[in-house]
Amino acid sequence: MKKIGIMGGTFDPVHMGHLFVANEVLNIYGLDEIIFIPAGNPPHKRGTAACSYDRYIMTQLATLSNDRFTVSDIEIKKEEKSYTLKTMLEFKQKYPEAEFYFITGTDAVIDLPSWHNPGELLKICRFIAVLRPGNSLEDAKTKIEEINRIYNGHIELYQAPMLQISSTDIRSRFKNGMSARYLLPESVEQYIVKHRLYLETENEF
Ligand code: ATP
Ligand code: MG
Repeated sequence: MKKIGIMGGTFDPVHMGHLFVANEVLNIYGLDEIIFIPAGNPPHKRGTAACSYDRYIMTQLATLSNDRFTVSDIEIKKEEKSYTLKTMLEFKQKYPEAEFYFITGTDAVIDLPSWHNPGELLKICRFIAVLRPGNSLEDAKTKIEEINRIYNGHIELYQAPMLQISSTDIRSRFKNGMSARYLLPESVEQYIVKHRLYLETENEF
């Protein structure tokens, strides 16, 4: 049975934290591939700094050299907000034989109860949560146990070496003219500079 890892996010921009975690889970859980799914532009106020096209291209650039990494445009090409459940149901249809591993940081997984129909989502894919700097191990464990109990889920906590890298910090570095070198792939850094992304105050949120 094919094992497919799913890495969802805004990737605004994609960075070494995303790539490291994806590769780590791929190796530890013996996955065949990882599909990165940049989220579409949220329809209302609180949006992303870079548009979905730029975020998609940057994710492509970042994953180009790894033949086990691919990028899906399933969410960015939609006008309406994509629910993770809907996306995963589409993937299940496309790959009926595959087993899906949804990869998240602990900051994202503890929000799961606020997602659309978490119970159903937990039924159709396994969740691997990676501890993120800033989240305590004990809190994450307690919260994950609680979610598993409520939704009868199988979220697993995996402790990888932690990288204190976030897109928020990277955006602020570009805005303030500070170097973000080595926090993200060189190709992505060059794309940001060339297209003058993350310079505007109003894009910061
Ligand atoms: P932002 O600061 O804009 O929220 P981010 O760095 O959190 O950006 P996202 O695109 O929001 O990146 O994250 C996508 C997924 O990757 C989430 O599940 C998030 O928890 C996880 N993730 C992001 N950075 C890391 C990291 N350094 N270590 C582990 N997981 C991470
Ligand atoms: Mg985030």
